[in-house]
Amino acid sequence: MKKTVSFTRNSVNVFFHILTRCNLKCSHCYINPIQHGKDDLDTETVTAWLKLFHDPAKKSNLVLLGGEPTLHPGLPEIVKAARQIGYESITIDTNGYLFNNIIEKVTPEDIDYFSFSLDGPSPETNDRIRGAGCYERCIAGIRAAVKKGFAASVIYTVSNENADELDKMIPLLQDLGVRRFFIQVIGIRGRSAQEESWDSQRPLQLTRDRWESIVPPVAEKAAEAGITVIYPKVFLSAGEAFECAGNVAENYFIFPNGRVYRCPLCEDYPLHAMTVSSGRIESTGKINEADLFSLSIPEGCVINKLVQGGNIEYDSAGIPEYRIACCLLKEEVIR
Ligand code: SF4
Ligand code: SF4
Repeated sequence: MKKTVSFTRNSVNVFFHILTRCNLKCSHCYINPIQHGKDDLDTETVTAWLKLFHDPAKKSNLVLLGGEPTLHPGLPEIVKAARQIGYESITIDTNGYLFNNIIEKVTPEDIDYFSFSLDGPSPETNDRIRGAGCYERCIAGIRAAVKKGFAASVIYTVSNENADELDKMIPLLQDLGVRRFFIQVIGIRGRSAQEESWDSQRPLQLTRDRWESIVPPVAEKAAEAGITVIYPKVFLSAGEAFECAGNVAENYFIFPNGRVYRCPLCEDYPLHAMTVSSGRIESTGKINEADLFSLSIPEGCVINKLVQGGNIEYDSAGIPEYRIACCLLKEEVIR
């Protein structure tokens, strides 16, 4: 069964980059240290900022990420503080190296999910994108977490480098005991924006036809195998409404230098709508991302058009063939 997950005003989703450093150098890394600094936030500051973004009147969900968040020695303390503050769901996104013995220092009650990034069903594909030895370490990390009783999900960032192997993930996830699979579309930001493509003849992002012929069918197949799949809608069909999450939902993407974005597509630019400064959330001046959320264009998402417009096709009269959905609009497929 497939359903579009609508934006809701009843929850707050906090994506907290507690540091930007990482042990890996993935070819498509979206982290931009020039924009977001290289400093780790200390545990006390992370806790104080978590309090600022928690809303007791709404369901507050937290994703802790980096860089590689398990490199932060205060992560177990941060997780426990988040639960105490009242975050209802807590996820740690990890590349699978699980530093600082993290799975010994938190419990399955503390964490809703460890979410592992894997970009191929084999070392050849995954390690070409993420670095030598990474596949084996990530698989070992998933097995260790599952063995300890943690719920594990996997994130697969689809590009033209690995799209053809997406279906091979299904038996692997079954073998690993993973029951939740996030298929992500590669964003042209961070390192991808600098290089645009590993092969200049081959763009990173899939065309609409290629996306539609690969991703939804694999999601259906995975759901039949008992795995819940979540993937971005990306392309709107005629008659489907366009909505910008920046106008109707509360999503905060927080970086260690205090920048807070409402839209992740803006993260390569100083367009953040807010900053945390002197322990308070402050709005930034014009022009920021929020000034762009209400603009209406035939291509759908304005910021997509500005930063990664290569995914839009036009007819001979220059009219867009379709609109691009908000990058935060997801399809969920369950059996
Ligand atoms: S994509 Fe994630 S794991 Fe890879 S280098 Fe960037 S922060 Fe590290
Ligand atoms: S991706 Fe586009 S539609 Fe979604 S929040 Fe950003 S600007 Fe709005």
